[in-house]
Amino acid sequence: MSYSYEAPVSQALFDRASAVTPGGVNSPVRAFRAVGGTPRFMVSGDGPYLTDADGREYVDLVCSWGPMILGHSRPEVIEAVQAAVSRGTSFGTPGEGEVALAEEIVGRVAPVEQVRLVSSGTEATMSAIRLARGFTGRAKIVKFAGCYHGHVDALLAAAGSGVATFGLPDTPGVTGAQAGDTVVLPYNDLQAVRDAFAAHPGEIACVITEASPGNMGVVPPREGFNAGLKELCAANGALYISDEVMTGFRTSKAGWYGIDGVAPDLMTFGKVMGGGFPAAAFGGRADVMAHLAPAGPVYQAGTLSGNPVATAAGLAQLRLLDDAAYAKVDAVSAEIRGLVGDALGKEGVAHRVQTAGNMFSVFFTSDEVRDYEDAKRQEAFRFTAFFHSMLADGVYLPPSAFESWFVSTAHDDRAIERVAAALPAAARAAAEATGEGVRA
Ligand code: PLP
Repeated sequence: MSYSYEAPVSQALFDRASAVTPGGVNSPVRAFRAVGGTPRFMVSGDGPYLTDADGREYVDLVCSWGPMILGHSRPEVIEAVQAAVSRGTSFGTPGEGEVALAEEIVGRVAPVEQVRLVSSGTEATMSAIRLARGFTGRAKIVKFAGCYHGHVDALLAAAGSGVATFGLPDTPGVTGAQAGDTVVLPYNDLQAVRDAFAAHPGEIACVITEASPGNMGVVPPREGFNAGLKELCAANGALYISDEVMTGFRTSKAGWYGIDGVAPDLMTFGKVMGGGFPAAAFGGRADVMAHLAPAGPVYQAGTLSGNPVATAAGLAQLRLLDDAAYAKVDAVSAEIRGLVGDALGKEGVAHRVQTAGNMFSVFFTSDEVRDYEDAKRQEAFRFTAFFHSMLADGVYLPPSAFESWFVSTAHDDRAIERVAAALPAAARAAAEATGEGVRA
């Protein structure tokens, strides 16, 4: 596939980056390998827009993979960061910002009685699993194919996101011992969970699931699936861990919990709660969290955990996220979903726009996508053509058919009109795509 536009400055930066960094990027999906072409090196963000090193502006429908729910450079967040930086950047002691952020999380999400701050979603899920194993004295964990929980060794089995994009069933470097206690089940299949508990009586420490998956594209839980998981966990002495790194504080004030009301034993958070900085968390039942050091025996720590600049950014962002803000993000999402569906429909492209709150993604198939196997059956080569047409016309989509799209309160009429203007050509490109010479 050839690309009708160029990005010489990004290309030069990518060449420099590739000389000193594996694949030229610090997180795999950024490399555009699934869609081909040169990744855009961004230099600034303002509201719904990103500007790349070649000076081209894009409507951003990735929002840093979720965190930028208020858009880029929101003045109140920037001011809070500047004020925090002026007081110093890290103390290695407790500070009031951490307390305030923890109070904000506990205040929003009822099942979270206690919370521990960390620096990434990966750390949050890794620590939650260690805690579940320490609390229950059991080794095995259950996860679902297509759910991504960060690059935790034990969770890099049939994971989504970059792993889905690259089609890696496993990754070298994760040993049999590290993944051997991980039971991987098809998503949305409660009978499979029942069978796993029956096959491993008294051995399963926890079931971890994305609250509503967004890492194999958006595949919401079937009615009653999360409630069923909770019930099965309770009946079998295992903990139910809901990973809300992506959905948390995005799909509602209380994340996906605010939508389905199923109370997990433990929850994990990241992305939105950091306001664009590395801040994440795990929390839940006080009796479980009491097992964490220094209150209890399960060790967990972090030099930069609860960093004062990150907590200031996260707190400023969360405090701006009131009911009106969520209503706005939901409305923007609905409008863009409608435009995408109309454009693809007009060109006769088989597709499904799947939604979870204001998260959504487009599958190039006419069948409902209920799990990872369904997601992989889509015609991903059509996404490649669609993606490059949108990029050429100034709309930045996730560079993979297996990722959620994200919008913000800053996506105003002008930004949405620009998306609408780009869609007809992209839909045509998707219709005409043949898949030849394209990495799916
Ligand atoms: N859990 C979920 C549901 C995620 O979507 C992600 C990242 O995309 C993670 C965990 C890992 O978070 P991080 O990239 O901050 O380590």
